Amino acid sequence: MKQRILIVEDEPAIVDNIQYALETEGFETICFSEGKNALECLDKEAIDLIVLDIGLPDISGFELCKDIRKKTNTPIIFLTARTEEVDRIVGLEIGADDYVTKPFSPRELTARIRAVLRRTAPSNENSHEQGIFYIDESRRRITYRGKPVDLSRYEFNILKTFIQRPGHVFSRDRLMDMAWEEPEASLDRTVDAHIKNIRAKLKNIDPDTDPILTHRGVGYSLRDDL
Ligand code: CA
Repeated sequence: MKQRILIVEDEPAIVDNIQYALETEGFETICFSEGKNALECLDKEAIDLIVLDIGLPDISGFELCKDIRKKTNTPIIFLTARTEEVDRIVGLEIGADDYVTKPFSPRELTARIRAVLRRTAPSNENSHEQGIFYIDESRRRITYRGKPVDLSRYEFNILKTFIQRPGHVFSRDRLMDMAWEEPEASLDRTVDAHIKNIRAKLKNIDPDTDPILTHRGVGYSLRDDL
């Protein structure tokens, strides 16, 4: 069955471009230029991934993303025209999975879509698990107690850093170096926001354990006694 991509974008030329590229690659597409219609569509249609423009005529993509997250965890890739928006995407707890900066090539977007779909796909195979965490590097996926954790790019990088050295205390600066391509572009507190997200996602899988320790004024570590 074809995977179905919901495109929410108000510039017809961009929509045409994306739609053509995705359908050539074997995806099915549904397109809306307004957020309201896209949100209604999610109630009726099975969607595998959402491509979401930030500058929409009726609602900001950020707001729409929050509304979508109240309904579903369907992966979201933002399209952004302005680099200053990137800081908001990675810094706030909006719940997007990735972003692409305009202008982009359809090939780049398609590659990102495939990567996010791989990362968020439910796992059926048996993972050769060691310990309670397992890193599947080729799919950029981490499983926790046998269940895949649905992580954004930065959350994945942070959690992977922890898993590779359990018990080691990482400062916020160090985590930023490990997780961000351009650490100087981000603020310290964004690390805290990502840790908060990771904790919430791990808690969904095991409500009784918090595997991440906070070391006040120093940083974070992964418990090594689990
Ligand atoms: Ca727009």
